[in-house]
Amino acid sequence: MSDLWKVAVDAPIPQILTYRVPAQYVVSRGQRVVVPLGTRKVSGVALEHQKVFAEDFAVDKIREVTSVDDEAPVLSERFLKWLEWLSDYYIHSPGLTLALAYPPLKKTSTRKSTRAAVVPAQLEGGSAKPNLTSEQKKVLQDLENSEGFQAHLIFGVTGSGKTEIYLHALESILQKNQTGLVLVPEISLTPQLVDRFVQRFGEQVAVLHSQLTPREKTNQWWQIVSGEKKILIGARSALFCPIPNLGLIVVDEEHEASFKQDEKLKYQARDAAVMRARFEKCAILLGSATPSLETWQNALSGRYHLHTLKERVGQRPMPKIEVVDLRIIPSDDKRKVKLPSWLSEELHTQIVKTLGQNKQVAMFLNRRGFAPVLMCPSCGHSRKCPNCEISLTQHGKKDLICHYCDYHEPVPRSCPACHANELTAVGLGTEKVESDLQKLFPEHICIRADRDEIQTREELEDFVRKFENKEAHILIGTQMIAKGLDFPDLNLVGFVWADQSFHFPDFRAFERSFQLIVQMSGRSGRKTVDEERGLVLLQTHQPDHPILAPAIKQNFVEFAEQELQMRKSLRYPPFGKLVNIRFQCADLNIAEQAGALLKTRALQIREQWPSASQIDILGPAAAPMAKMRNFYRFQMLLKAPDSKIANQFTRALIGDGKWIPKGVKITPDVDPYHLL
Ligand code: ADP
Ligand code: ZN
Repeated sequence: MSDLWKVAVDAPIPQILTYRVPAQYVVSRGQRVVVPLGTRKVSGVALEHQKVFAEDFAVDKIREVTSVDDEAPVLSERFLKWLEWLSDYYIHSPGLTLALAYPPLKKTSTRKSTRAAVVPAQLEGGSAKPNLTSEQKKVLQDLENSEGFQAHLIFGVTGSGKTEIYLHALESILQKNQTGLVLVPEISLTPQLVDRFVQRFGEQVAVLHSQLTPREKTNQWWQIVSGEKKILIGARSALFCPIPNLGLIVVDEEHEASFKQDEKLKYQARDAAVMRARFEKCAILLGSATPSLETWQNALSGRYHLHTLKERVGQRPMPKIEVVDLRIIPSDDKRKVKLPSWLSEELHTQIVKTLGQNKQVAMFLNRRGFAPVLMCPSCGHSRKCPNCEISLTQHGKKDLICHYCDYHEPVPRSCPACHANELTAVGLGTEKVESDLQKLFPEHICIRADRDEIQTREELEDFVRKFENKEAHILIGTQMIAKGLDFPDLNLVGFVWADQSFHFPDFRAFERSFQLIVQMSGRSGRKTVDEERGLVLLQTHQPDHPILAPAIKQNFVEFAEQELQMRKSLRYPPFGKLVNIRFQCADLNIAEQAGALLKTRALQIREQWPSASQIDILGPAAAPMAKMRNFYRFQMLLKAPDSKIANQFTRALIGDGKWIPKGVKITPDVDPYHLL
């Protein structure tokens, strides 16, 4: 008789392999082992025991486990189940998925870290706990009154007291001798945020994010896993830490795009966190001022408890938002003051006024356009795909294409809506805006924040400090400045081109635009009294655009209502599931050949499976970034009624992979977020 175990090995293979365990070792499910694979030794996790008699099975052909890792903890059943779910749902190798549950280095090391402590020591004084508002109390009572898995959405603007709820909820978790996990977007994981938790919970706080060294990560990981620390704050990957005795998960800014990982295991950390809470049978709190429509629909349907925090604590006023119509800018020679063509007189006047009051100005422009938007300068019209409702992108001089379904049309000679003008490519970047403003306001200092200027956390903090100290008065930035920053003297926010993000070839373009406007507007007038509330000016070519009305009122509910209607009619999430089959090859012909094969296979499967008849197969089409690092990139989008069918269909489509032409790499992206 021989002891056989199925092991998920740390290698990109879809199967689980069988190994023999030598008599000197005892293995259990969730145990980390080292096994031979080809000529290498790799680690893996034992998943399933098989007792087999030698005569039934060619046991001597089966290779032996090399050693058992006696340092790594045996993973709990709940945690393992969750990892297996991830691997299955996201169609990713089980071994590679399980490998994410371990720290980068061995536990034991004599080398001391020379950098500053990862988590600051207990701060002096400790902040006084405010008396909770009745809305805040209600959330905490709801948490107390229910047991097991439950999901809560806390819907409230910045400053409405969400973090205070997290802190209280964690406090009662600690009293029950349980642990808590707080996920925040990488960019929000600032020392200020960590300090706030340390002030409440002192040395029980651990932190994990991508900028720690492997040694720091390993140490933080062990302090949590050993039970020494009880609250883990981290970016999305902290979700993979096998925290024992988990009692609460918090996902702040749950709508943030950075919770989606686009490489390797292409998971959405917010969704994965909800699943983890399900397996751990604990509560999860999701917080946002502009929830994702997936989460919002779950709240509307009653799957999640909805809690609304209506006002900012202390009744700080919301800023005033106004639209400036860019279509009626007079031609340059008719203007009173000579201004750059992107700048309206209204916005210019307000900049002058704000600077005159010794306040600060921020100009927002999301420059990361990869293809210029083709738009009518007179009426703001731009072309959309008749099938998919997403913007068409110009290719070459003459073609407009849809990156979802590959619909083509020629570039029209004149604007199909108003016939007054030709459609023209519009494009503008932060650098140009900066240099124009610097010329207009030579006595004031401009500062720019975008991915070219700021790459590390230190650079970001440096920039924040400069602007906070008013070493600069005019800030020009991309979406990098939309989040979490709190500048007391910032009183005017200008959107250089508010409709820019409407034109993204993505069905979430309006959702992202709305979030951006609300977030960015929240930067204005944060410390002011009512008479001088902050002002936001939205320059746009489409003042009648349907998202602007709810955006000006900062009315998320109204926006969500109209957007969900559109999603429903086109069966986009949350009303359908998407899988993006991405494929790429260095040779364009072979890539196209693979695309044709993929399409044929998809059509065949749909023909054969009655349950797949409702799947839409869009494309293949060139990816919006059609060539990257010398690879030609394509995508085929599957739109399915539910995730089960989407998963089965995708697995059948890829099959054993033997049909895939050499040199082509195919990867499914389940619940895709960035369709680039
Ligand atoms: P959010 O997380 O929604 O941005 P916070 O929890 O950070 O909101 O609250 C905003 C500010 O109001 C913080 O300074 C916080 O300490 C304070 N605050 C929160 N709740 C209360 C309360 N009930 N009474 C007084 N101050 C509060
Ligand atoms: Zn289309």
